Amino acid sequence: MKNKVLRIILTFIATLFLFVLTIGSAVPASAGTNGQQLTIRANSNGFPGFTGLTVSGTNNANRSATWTWNGGQSYEVSTTNWWWKGTVTIQAKYANGASKSCSANVPTIQVSNFVVTTCSSDVPSLPPAAPSNARLDNITVNAMTLRWNDNAGNVNGEQGFKIERRNGGGWSPIATASANTTSYTSSGLSAGTQYYFRVRAYNSFGDSGYSNETCATTPKKRIGIQAGHWKVNELPAELAWGRAQTGTSGGGTTEWQVTLNVANLAANLLRQRGFDVDVLPATVPEQYKPDVFVSLHTDGNASPNPNGFKASRSYYTTNTSASDRLVNAIYTEYGKSTRLTVATNITDDMRYYYAFNYATYKHAIGKDVPAALLEMGYLSSPTDQQILVKNQNLAAEGVANAISAFFK
Ligand SMILES: [Zn+2]
Repeated sequence: MKNKVLRIILTFIATLFLFVLTIGSAVPASAGTNGQQLTIRANSNGFPGFTGLTVSGTNNANRSATWTWNGGQSYEVSTTNWWWKGTVTIQAKYANGASKSCSANVPTIQVSNFVVTTCSSDVPSLPPAAPSNARLDNITVNAMTLRWNDNAGNVNGEQGFKIERRNGGGWSPIATASANTTSYTSSGLSAGTQYYFRVRAYNSFGDSGYSNETCATTPKKRIGIQAGHWKVNELPAELAWGRAQTGTSGGGTTEWQVTLNVANLAANLLRQRGFDVDVLPATVPEQYKPDVFVSLHTDGNASPNPNGFKASRSYYTTNTSASDRLVNAIYTEYGKSTRLTVATNITDDMRYYYAFNYATYKHAIGKDVPAALLEMGYLSSPTDQQILVKNQNLAAEGVANAISAFFK
């Protein structure tokens, strides 16, 4: 029996064996024999995030051994005492103090056996390279798209990207994007506001550096206020019939002079509040698409008795709910500022106003523009003239407040 054990031991001593263990492509380490010695080699060349290695295993007498390497370009340890089988574990250490273990099963060594075992792992030894060339496009009043270059390769690749945004205050994380993504659309932004963006990649090792910062400003909300009957003589051929619609008059003035004054006064108030405002004549641009459109008019009557203001939404618009909100805001705010009474009798001339009629005319607002027509009062009424002629600033305040309220 004793002889048999001796023979087995001698057989092992004569065994030539080699096994190679690696962790991913980032950690080269190998273990092999030198005669009856077991030799473990590690080399950190070209793997800057990799700082150390522990190799441990159990010999055929179930005795364990551990070698530790802490930096340097290479490491080698030999033993003449033990035979290796079973599980060998390599623990890789990284510059940030993290570590990752990886195991390989080494078959029991036999005569003439030659073993190469690879222990694979996708453990990165460094964070990914930082993204670059961050830039913005597709900028609208409430959204913009961030794009970047993905610089991470296959080794130390990214698991994804972290996107941050700021306007005024500090940076806030707003989203993550998956690996190999190179764009992200940020929505729900405020109009007329400058936004900064930056992005970084990440993997299980950690975060990359940040990309460059990039910024853009969303456009302001655009408001179209039409001064009814202003420059009707310039209406295009498709609206030639309208050139004779010169409007009503009263109180020593004419409709277009009142609508133009009120439109300009309201525009000034709205510009002070951060809006872009177009004051438009009877002719609106082709397929005009502001964020809201209000046409101003005054009523007239042969009798001085009828008075009051009234408003109607477009009956062509596809955006009826927003247009209804606009009309409600007009009744509330214009009524509050002017204290004029509310007139009834909404007419089809209001509902189906030519500037709303995108199906018939090129010179009309876009189909989904929230739109309303406001008859600001009777220019023929001495009561309403107190506002329309003598206190146009109150009418303008009512119009501006209604539009402000619409956007809230
Ligand atoms: Zn009119």
